[in-house]
Amino acid sequence: MHSSSLVVLSSARPLRRLLCSASASARSPSSRSCSCCSFRSPKRNPSISKVFFTSTSLMECFWTRTRIGSNKELVEYLQQNGALNSKKVAEVMKTVDRGLFVPHGNFPYVDSPMDIGYNATISAPHMHAACLELLEENLQPGMRALDVGSGTGYLTSCFALMVGPQGRVAGVEHIPELVASSIKNIQNSAAAPLLKEGSLVVHVGGLDGQILEPYNAIHVGAAAPDIPVPLLDQLKPGGRMVIPVGTFSQDLKVVEKKLDGSISVHNETSVRYVPLTSREDQLQGY
Ligand code: SAH
Repeated sequence: MHSSSLVVLSSARPLRRLLCSASASARSPSSRSCSCCSFRSPKRNPSISKVFFTSTSLMECFWTRTRIGSNKELVEYLQQNGALNSKKVAEVMKTVDRGLFVPHGNFPYVDSPMDIGYNATISAPHMHAACLELLEENLQPGMRALDVGSGTGYLTSCFALMVGPQGRVAGVEHIPELVASSIKNIQNSAAAPLLKEGSLVVHVGGLDGQILEPYNAIHVGAAAPDIPVPLLDQLKPGGRMVIPVGTFSQDLKVVEKKLDGSISVHNETSVRYVPLTSREDQLQGY
């Protein structure tokens, strides 16, 4: 058991980044995704899509999709809409071209999650921006970060550019094919030198594997039913974890380990992410 005391602060902040609550997938209009996160409405629960897919949000996403033609424009769109305020995060997101991480056939510069195969998605750009901003203080040059459920490797690459060559970033993903494709994506991106030098690594694994050191920053890209104790244990004193927690109803939680080892948690916003699960469960029906 973890020895830290757990203090849960329940006051959720306003939903500051709800640019559009949902969208149709850019590749397949019939495969609908919530643009606030990595969520794809599951086939087994069609009622979810009724809740989230309003005509207003679909129109807004269509408008966004038709207007934005480059990564730079996408980042500027996020800035103009108040979804991205940090200059450092904007600079990193401009440097790591999302178009290199989104599978061919999609419109890459849409503020929407997209299908990446294996019942997984790349998160929406405004969610990537939100997580980078929440972790910015713990992604200073030389710091260490862990990205669990690294998927396409986009956010992992952004983390690596934030901490620089003196830092260390590990991506962990349990679908080997996604690990292989994420490494190719990274090799084509501005993070390629960091991968080559070894300050950025991506492994096949889950919560309990490949986690070798305490981290200043931990990001989890899939929703856990509870905050996983092995991840709490891997957080350095002074460290911060951003993790979606819940099943149907999920909160993006910010978990902080104080210097005395005590833990505080607050809810940042409501989200919908794919579940943190076993490989077998994730690939069911795929
Ligand atoms: N941040 C990623 C999100 C990918 S979606 C991106 O934007 O590209 C969430 C990812 O978590 C999926 O790739 C899925 O395969 C992975 N995942 C789910 N459960 C996992 C587990 N138990 N261990 C490791 N990865 C997991």
